[in-house]
Amino acid sequence: MFENLSDKLQNALQKLKGKGKLTEKDIDLAMKEVKMSLLEADVNFKVVKTFINSVKERSLGSEVMESLTPGQQVVKIVHEELVKIMGQGESKLKINSNDITYFMMCGLQGAGKTTATGKLARKLKKDGKRPLLVACDIYRPAAIKQLQVVGASVDVPVFEMGDKTNPVTIAKEAMKHAMKHGHDIVIIDTAGRLHIDDSLMEELVEIKQTVKPDEILLLLDAMTGQDAVKVAETFNQYLDITGVILTKVDGDARGGAALSIRNVVDKPIKFLSVGEKMDQLETFHPDRMASRILG
Ligand code: GDP
Repeated sequence: MFENLSDKLQNALQKLKGKGKLTEKDIDLAMKEVKMSLLEADVNFKVVKTFINSVKERSLGSEVMESLTPGQQVVKIVHEELVKIMGQGESKLKINSNDITYFMMCGLQGAGKTTATGKLARKLKKDGKRPLLVACDIYRPAAIKQLQVVGASVDVPVFEMGDKTNPVTIAKEAMKHAMKHGHDIVIIDTAGRLHIDDSLMEELVEIKQTVKPDEILLLLDAMTGQDAVKVAETFNQYLDITGVILTKVDGDARGGAALSIRNVVDKPIKFLSVGEKMDQLETFHPDRMASRILG
């Protein structure tokens, strides 16, 4: 995960670690390298700027300059500031205790929506819930079938009305169905597109208004770096999303999306999807992620 970024950051900081005393020049040089590694990892430039300024300011302060191990102190500051840009603690899913909880999954086609829908259902089922999946993607051929296959693999039922009914109606009927059959969590798999377009957004807004979901989770492909952040900005403008699931983090992702989302759209990353298998969903902990990046 983010091997390239990790290597480069570790390299830049390693040079500081061995030194007995640090000068402003040492810190400047190291920060230049850190900055380059973050930009190469496709982290948003505003995020990089804020980050570098905070680290520099703190590194020139007494917590480093008066420390016996100044290099390690800088590493600690880098760690803390990485955590800060990713949003501090874990962001839990909102789950109602006395009412049905509704999740709406959205994102561009291929982002990993259907896969993550299955993973989330599996996780909630393991937590003792009775989830229902809802097939609202009536446009992509085989989308309904794919959700059924995913549902079957995690032993969670799928509500579908074929591809001739309006997705808003499907969502409404699914709500009645969930109530009637005692489901406590409803996860709606919505349609994606290759690119953002108005008609998709209008449909999603209509589903949102109908269902009033507890969580609107946006699926973002980590491999797409800054593009993922742009997608997040647009979806957030239309839908006021509640969180992000970052997918394909197991691939050759550079880290840009993970490190920029919180700062740019101010919404938490809730989970990481780290593979195609149904058990490959991890809760996102900014602290653990910073440790992974810094090695
Ligand atoms: P959707 O169009 O957004 O519903 O995307 P899908 O769930 O169909 O996923 C698109 C492709 O990405 C499929 O081939 C999935 O197996 C794959 N995929 C989804 N999530 C992950 C992930 O976390 N890691 C990897 N390596 N592949 C994934």
